Amino acid sequence: MTSSTEHGDPPAVTDAPPALEVRDLGKRYGDTQAVDGIGFDLDAHEILCLVGPSGCGKSTVLRMLAGLVTPDSGQVVLAGRTVDGPDGHLAPERRGVGIVFQEHALFPNLTVEANVGFGLAGLGRSRRRARVTEMLALVALEDHAARYPHELSGGERQRVALARALAPAPSVLLLDEPFASLDQNLRVQVRDQVVSVLRATGTPAVFVTHDQGEALALGDRILVLRHGRVAQIGTPQGIFHAPVDRFVAAFMGDADFLPARVVDAVVESELGERPAPDAPPTHAVELVVRPDDVSFDVSPTGSAVIDGVEFQGESNLYRLRLASGAVVRSRRPHTEVVPVGGQVTARFSDHHRSPVLIAGSEPSGPRRDDPQALPEPAAVRTSTDRNRNAASASSSESSFL
Ligand code: ADP
Repeated sequence: MTSSTEHGDPPAVTDAPPALEVRDLGKRYGDTQAVDGIGFDLDAHEILCLVGPSGCGKSTVLRMLAGLVTPDSGQVVLAGRTVDGPDGHLAPERRGVGIVFQEHALFPNLTVEANVGFGLAGLGRSRRRARVTEMLALVALEDHAARYPHELSGGERQRVALARALAPAPSVLLLDEPFASLDQNLRVQVRDQVVSVLRATGTPAVFVTHDQGEALALGDRILVLRHGRVAQIGTPQGIFHAPVDRFVAAFMGDADFLPARVVDAVVESELGERPAPDAPPTHAVELVVRPDDVSFDVSPTGSAVIDGVEFQGESNLYRLRLASGAVVRSRRPHTEVVPVGGQVTARFSDHHRSPVLIAGSEPSGPRRDDPQALPEPAAVRTSTDRNRNAASASSSESSFL
């Protein structure tokens, strides 16, 4: 964070606190540990997406940040001010945060203008009117000021909700599945509008979504939650390309898992070899293989078989059964049509980046009681020695790239 001096000196570095600091936050409901010691910071102007499967604790985290739920443990600090902690709990209306929920929660008996101005009672009449006009211009609804909520489309209602939440200039905006009630096309459109409003106002935001595509598109960073804990936090690219475990890999996109070995800084797998300079030597690993990572050539001597195909419009998604019995998916242009049952040679796609390697089983692997559990990969033989079984997935230490 920088600021300029009155003498026009170069900006000086200041110690402005993060917009939000969350430390070791916990919440239990009866036997359910809904949130289990999570922590993160939110920088000024940053959009953080909280993503995870249903029931992993996303809404509970957001509600605690808003002050609507009191944590059992931990600390919430907003712009340097502790609002939850050992010394107590600050009421929602005194936190200076804005909230946008899935259901727009507009007052049905108030006009758009009155809805947006609702939280501005402290301002004089003319300043209030000016602020409402400014907010409606921001969400491009100036012409709808006199309408009532039932006279708006779903997307317009959500933009009014956003304008209302931003009107008091909150220090942080909290959004809980704000687009869930919109259909797909509108959703993308409203999402883009909301992000550009957040960017234009410089408002830091925590966004809850169960949709990994939305998180990848929206977030400066993503926090993946699982069973109330932080599974991984990082940039969208980091999370997608370097997941720490199977759960994150599979949650953030289509993923298959192939056993592999690292020998002399080369990873060997049934899809071929790739350099892996950072991998520990002679280490049994799993490869995270996404459909765009896999190519194939039709060949009567190929050892893989097309097991199935799903038409996805722009592309076809093929299921390939490799010689070992392992199954990987391959996304190909819709112009290429290969019949089910055809023999092919499968390989890494050209220009495929270094393969992502992860340790394969517990604690990063699936749990038996986990609804997100994934099948264990079939044992494979390496590309270099088809008669030798590759080591199975390792239960060893943490993941690596
Ligand atoms: P998500 O938003 O990720 O779907 P939630 O935060 O809503 O998850 O819920 C996390 C867990 O806490 C779930 O098991 C849910 O049933 C439970 N839970 C949430 N709110 C309450 C509540 N008010 N009373 C009891 N259990 C709750």
